[in-house]
Amino acid sequence: MSTAGLMNGSQLANDIFDRTAERAADFLARTGAKPCLATVIVGDDPSSVTYVKMKENRSQKVGIDSRHTSLPATASTFDVVSAITRLSDDPMVNGILLQHPGPPQVDEAAAFEAIAPAKDVDGVTMHSFAAMALGRPGFVSCTPGGIIRLLDTFEVELTGQHAVVIGRSPILGKPVGMLLLGRDATVTYCHSKTRDLSTIVLTADIVVAAVGRPKFVRGEWLSPGVVVIDAGYNPGNVGDVDFDEAVERASLITPVPGGVGPMTIALLMEQTVDAAFQQAVLS
Ligand code: NAP
Repeated sequence: MSTAGLMNGSQLANDIFDRTAERAADFLARTGAKPCLATVIVGDDPSSVTYVKMKENRSQKVGIDSRHTSLPATASTFDVVSAITRLSDDPMVNGILLQHPGPPQVDEAAAFEAIAPAKDVDGVTMHSFAAMALGRPGFVSCTPGGIIRLLDTFEVELTGQHAVVIGRSPILGKPVGMLLLGRDATVTYCHSKTRDLSTIVLTADIVVAAVGRPKFVRGEWLSPGVVVIDAGYNPGNVGDVDFDEAVERASLITPVPGGVGPMTIALLMEQTVDAAFQQAVLS
């Protein structure tokens, strides 16, 4: 029985943090200002507060300034759109992150669209999605972008490979499938209405699990030698793939934690510094 190689996202993320810190220092030396990431949180959901704190701590470590806006859980769509529009218009802000999810009364799509495309370092606007889907320059959604970087770093062939993406959310499943398609993979999307899911997964060369259900993908669904990307992050540090079963079948697999998760923040930092350079018209 073979055991899969681990795709260590923490190590790759650290390499990206190091390079990003060097570029942030270069930006400071050339402009007199640090790149600046504005974070916006609506309400006080504990997970969202923790995620934003992690992103701000990492920003500080790589030399990116943080500007935090906290709105009450009772905020209206107008309140959120107004706050984001102010940040979009502020020349000292290079990137904007609206932490997802917000309270139900806020129209999240409208709030995302208030982010200026040039500052959409989390890749959540329609402009960024269209650019990504059309293979044009722009900011990618961070988790999907991080997944492609992992696949490239581990030299996983994408051309002509059958990639099965389980999940079609706007921030994860849908964009990662588009990025894989852009790299000439043959992509199948699966979702909650898909029939015979396990039979489809068995035909995959690459499986991306983005479901939000702990240990959902079972080892017996996987053909030997498959590459498994587990984007899931469920309570108790559990992924969407049954790791103990999958590791016996896969050739490569991302661990949870330490696989896809760290790559999301790495891409956010990298794209914030990219945005700062682009806005200052520096290379
Ligand atoms: P989401 O918005 O809830 O989407 C889940 C997707 O899974 C939906 O497309 C849904 O299908 C599909 N699904 C649900 N039950 C299914 C089933 N029984 N069979 C097949 N498909 C099913 O979740 P998300 O935001 O994409 O997140 C997915 C996972 O990734 C979560 O564990 C989340 O914590 C994790 N995540 C991690 C990071 C990171 O940085 N590591 C970032 C974002 C998300 P329908 O569309 O038909 O409802």
